[in-house]
Amino acid sequence: MDSEKKDIREISKSELESLLVGYGEKKFRASQVYDWIWKKGAETFDEMNNISKPLRDKLADEFCFRNVKCIYTVSSVDKTHKFLFETCDGYRFEGVLIPSADRVTSCISTQIGCQMGCAFCATGQLGFKRNLTSGEIFHQVFSLNRLSAEIFGTPLSNIVIMGMGEPLMNYENTLAAIDKICSPDSMGMSPQRITMSTCGIAPQIKHLADDGIRFNLSISLHSAIDSKRNEIMPINRKYNLKELSEAISYFHEKTGTRITYEYLMLGGVNDSLDDARALTEFTKVSPCKINIIEYNPHPDDTFRRTNKETLENFIRHIESRNIVVTIRKSKGSDIAAACGQLANMKK
Ligand code: SF4
Repeated sequence: MDSEKKDIREISKSELESLLVGYGEKKFRASQVYDWIWKKGAETFDEMNNISKPLRDKLADEFCFRNVKCIYTVSSVDKTHKFLFETCDGYRFEGVLIPSADRVTSCISTQIGCQMGCAFCATGQLGFKRNLTSGEIFHQVFSLNRLSAEIFGTPLSNIVIMGMGEPLMNYENTLAAIDKICSPDSMGMSPQRITMSTCGIAPQIKHLADDGIRFNLSISLHSAIDSKRNEIMPINRKYNLKELSEAISYFHEKTGTRITYEYLMLGGVNDSLDDARALTEFTKVSPCKINIIEYNPHPDDTFRRTNKETLENFIRHIESRNIVVTIRKSKGSDIAAACGQLANMKK
């Protein structure tokens, strides 16, 4: 049964080489098989048409492809496309393609559900099922890349790891997948085009710095006042703003890169001038950019969108401190594009 076989995407190139040499094959065969898996994005052994049938059968006896399958697609008037993927064991998660004038950005998931429980997030309400494997994360990205080429006529230009799950709670698998996505033997994407977003797992932010990562880091902050952040992001009770700030400072010292802060404006919750002052004070710790995100209300919601005037005052304060700030308009609000909304609806 496939469920008892190992995913071929979970073995290294040297393991593949030893395996094939053990089968009595020449070493270059391993490179051919490797190429099929990582460069051509094979989803079955049968596709490998320059590999002999007996060798394909042998591989298929021992290994499987744990593919993720797109089972539902919905597109927005603004051309954002959202996809519901299903794993081999029947779990569902989401991936999104967001086109703009000169690029297509994909937003990807790293876990099925999430245990972080952020109050404003539909994924938090799904509960946590399991981590995606590195092979599943890779296949999600490869599939989105194909879909981008089919729908928009261009491959992915950027990846944001902001979909379902907290990537730093699935550290090894997420980093292994990014490694493959950036490898010249695979998709060859520049790490500068990848942004990982975390809700603030302070020790893992230091871990990223120690691992010398080359992709971008973004912090989902949403409040720079402990008492408020405790309410909307329970992770703050474990790693408060002081610990988060120390981790960010450590990250900046080691990597020299600029942090981005995501700030979801929740009407009447975190959008006052006091909140803006706390935000600019907190972000002084290192060079940064702030992305203000307008809230995407969904049915049965307790949160609402910030009104225009309050939003403008908030932004004016940030600009007065000479911090780069951008407003991200809600994309795909007609198709439930915020994290977890589609999986919740299709549950
Ligand atoms: S916002 Fe991110 S970290 Fe928070 S519950 Fe949702 S998926 Fe998890």
